[in-house]
Amino acid sequence: MPGTHGEHDATADPGFRPRIPAAEWDDWRWHMRKRVNTTEKARRWLRLTPDEEKAIADSAGRYRWSITPYYASLMDPDDPACPIRLQAVPAPGEFERFPGSDVDPVGDTYYRKTNRVVHKYRDRVILLVTEACPVYCRHCTRKFHTTDVSGTYFRDDEGGSFDEDLRYIAEHPEIRDVLLTGGDPLSYQDGKLEEIVSGLRAIPSVEIIRIGSRFPVLLPQRITDGLCEMLARHHPVWLNTHFNHPKEITEESAAAVDRLLRHGVPVGNQTVLLRGINDDVATMRTLMTELLRIRVRPYYLYHCDNVTGVAHFMTSVEKGWEIMEGLQGHITGFGVPQYVLTTRIGKVPLARPYFTRTPDGLSLRNHRGEEMAVDTAAYPITERDAR
Ligand SMILES: *Cc1c(COP(=O)(O)O)cnc(C)c1O
Ligand code: SF4
Repeated sequence: MPGTHGEHDATADPGFRPRIPAAEWDDWRWHMRKRVNTTEKARRWLRLTPDEEKAIADSAGRYRWSITPYYASLMDPDDPACPIRLQAVPAPGEFERFPGSDVDPVGDTYYRKTNRVVHKYRDRVILLVTEACPVYCRHCTRKFHTTDVSGTYFRDDEGGSFDEDLRYIAEHPEIRDVLLTGGDPLSYQDGKLEEIVSGLRAIPSVEIIRIGSRFPVLLPQRITDGLCEMLARHHPVWLNTHFNHPKEITEESAAAVDRLLRHGVPVGNQTVLLRGINDDVATMRTLMTELLRIRVRPYYLYHCDNVTGVAHFMTSVEKGWEIMEGLQGHITGFGVPQYVLTTRIGKVPLARPYFTRTPDGLSLRNHRGEEMAVDTAAYPITERDAR
């Protein structure tokens, strides 16, 4: 499969990258301990460009950065435009100012009801369990919370009690769906996670628990049998991950997905549309069809939010339309994600419709651009037509 990366020792230049014994490579805690977060460590994996070195230096005191050796191993050591590298190595664009940028354009803070609960939709909430991530994605939509050195919604209270958050959920029985996010919830050890998940399970009105985690992409070794067995004790549990490029689909990530599925945890994916990373039809088609191959169901394609430090990744909405029209009808129907813009008023579907209203009914078009008229007499449009 494209992007397969079974070997963890050097790719292009066997003498250049470190060789890591399998016992260490397969241990997620080893990767967490050995995260790349200095120029010196990065040079073991990449030939850094002057721009990257400058952005790393400028990040000091402003933005966290950290890369698991696993994710670093997927990067092209010689190509600064490598789509994996662009997602994780600081870049000068993060320090530019863009019109309309904001640390919280989607209004998480406005809907934050407790330290961790964001209640924006009536029947479901997100629970910000942590601010920590294995890799600080440069395009993180919650960059203020996860990556900004002076950020985080928690201040000094990251490890504090969940009692108030759980009480809020229990006192709002209309909440039937709780999405654990952050940061990355799987940054916590299994024991701590199980405390949170069983605390939610003890609330009768909570029907489904969802986990948003990028570990299957950034450090798939984290998805151990032990973790999956724990999650399976609290079903129904769903997991959504975040693959952005076909190069991220590896033997290890496919195996992590397989472990989740075997334990009955359905796996979905959200992709962010990112300039220079996945903003072309061919890349997106490959990504979506490769996801289907590893049995991950594409869920959302997010238009990149105008977040401070992220805006250099934004594309036009027309680019999003072009991509959606390159997917719809061209690949398996359920391989096509929904293209949405996240706003203060919620996620809004953004794809162009395949029909227009005409005086006589509807004008339809298909994925090949062919058009067809549908007559009101044959297909009533209004309830009046139907009578
Ligand atoms: C995205 C999001 C959800 C979940 O929305 P779905 O469309 O059900 O996946 C819930 N709450 C907030 C604040 C969100 O941003
Ligand atoms: S793993 Fe998710 S929450 Fe963490 S930095 Fe990446 S996109 Fe943001």
